[in-house]
Amino acid sequence: MYEPYPVPELARDLKQVRYSSLWTFAKQDFRLLAFFLIIASLIGFGIGYFWICISLAFLLFFLQQMRSLYLVNDWISNRPYDVPPNLHGIWGALLFNVYRSQRQERIVQAEMVGLIDRAQSSLVALDEAVMLIDENHQIEWWNPAAEKLLGIQPLDRGRNILTILRQPSFIEYFNHIDQAPDGLKMKSSVHEGQYVQVKMTQFGGDSRLLFAYDMTRMHNLEQMRKDFVDNISHELRTPLTVLSGYIETFTDQEDINPRWKRAFEQMQSQTRRMNALVNDLLLLSRLENEKTIAKNQIIEMPSLMNQLFDDAHAYNVDYGHTLNLNIDSHYDLIGSDVELASAFSNLITNAIKYTPKGGTITIGWHDDGNQGYFTVEDTGIGIDPKHLPRLTERFYRVDSARSRQTGGTGLGLAIVKHVLMQHNAHLEVESKENQGSIFKVVFPKERLYYET
Ligand code: ADP
Repeated sequence: MYEPYPVPELARDLKQVRYSSLWTFAKQDFRLLAFFLIIASLIGFGIGYFWICISLAFLLFFLQQMRSLYLVNDWISNRPYDVPPNLHGIWGALLFNVYRSQRQERIVQAEMVGLIDRAQSSLVALDEAVMLIDENHQIEWWNPAAEKLLGIQPLDRGRNILTILRQPSFIEYFNHIDQAPDGLKMKSSVHEGQYVQVKMTQFGGDSRLLFAYDMTRMHNLEQMRKDFVDNISHELRTPLTVLSGYIETFTDQEDINPRWKRAFEQMQSQTRRMNALVNDLLLLSRLENEKTIAKNQIIEMPSLMNQLFDDAHAYNVDYGHTLNLNIDSHYDLIGSDVELASAFSNLITNAIKYTPKGGTITIGWHDDGNQGYFTVEDTGIGIDPKHLPRLTERFYRVDSARSRQTGGTGLGLAIVKHVLMQHNAHLEVESKENQGSIFKVVFPKERLYYET
């Protein structure tokens, strides 16, 4: 427990002993000197050795000053925290000022230490784990919650954090904090089935503050949500296949009553929509389960771009847009070809869908030596900037009616986001209402491949 720094009492009451100027104190010295000189001159006249007596008076005054100097030096070197010796004249003033500023400094210091102590006590009382890690990655300080949650022990002080929290995901996060602004969710190494969310902040060079909390409940709820969507999508698949099979058979019959034909066509289009929805949900749930995806194939960009361009032409038949292709990079991509092709194609079909007939769509691939950019630019309906932050949420639509009309499931951009996340890439959107949009996928250097 912290003991407040002792602040000694002032010998003289600060409020009472106030000096107006150095001159006030210097006057005391002059008075003393004058006193010595008067006495010396009287004695000098009396005994007939005037100058000798005057010299002796100066000598006495000098000795008296030397004594004061000695006392000041002794106090500063040996007992700086004690009450200073009671001196008169300028030495007294000097001592008093040194003592006063020293005392004020100690009061401020005591307040600071008190503040640090209070901050520390509140951190100790937290349910969340807090840990200080120095620039050599050694653990400097932690609170009791860190012991419970992360298994830190008293002996770990000064040990490298990476020798204690050794999960590869943590090491990866530790080395690239800036790439995971939301922190890291990891399995607890202390309790089976427990999950912790870890967030680190760098300060003062390479020191770090680690903050962690138990998120098992949230993880379980999220898992329940995923399982539910996954199960229900699987369960819907079979009845939908049966339904669409029969509907297709009936629709194709030539002798069908025209009234029924229209109804069957509508049923067919709705079952197709449901099928697309179920497939997208299943794809999303597969994407969330990161391990199932191979992400290290070399994808030849010229051939992928040409393939996407051909598909776009096929989809564009009903829309009649002008389509352009710009390839301005020698880099290929490292990733999962099927997933990336599906994400890119989602962006392209959106651009075609959300552009009124006769627009221009430009698909591009370029780089700036540091990052790779896949872009889709359209001259379509655009998006009000207020929608942009929520665009990649599941089922988020700017205009639900229009989106349904175009046969969208509302999951396209959510799928794109997940595919990109798994490739350490991200999506940037620039858009102006009624003028068009640019969807830009940004790939980091480590995802670019150049055959030498
Ligand atoms: P949807 O299946 O409805 O198209 P997405 O997830 O692909 O769902 O897109 C979400 C919403 O973003 C769309 O409903 C649409 O409002 C908007 N959007 C996507 N791409 C564009 C675009 N190129 N231009 C205008 N709006 C777009």
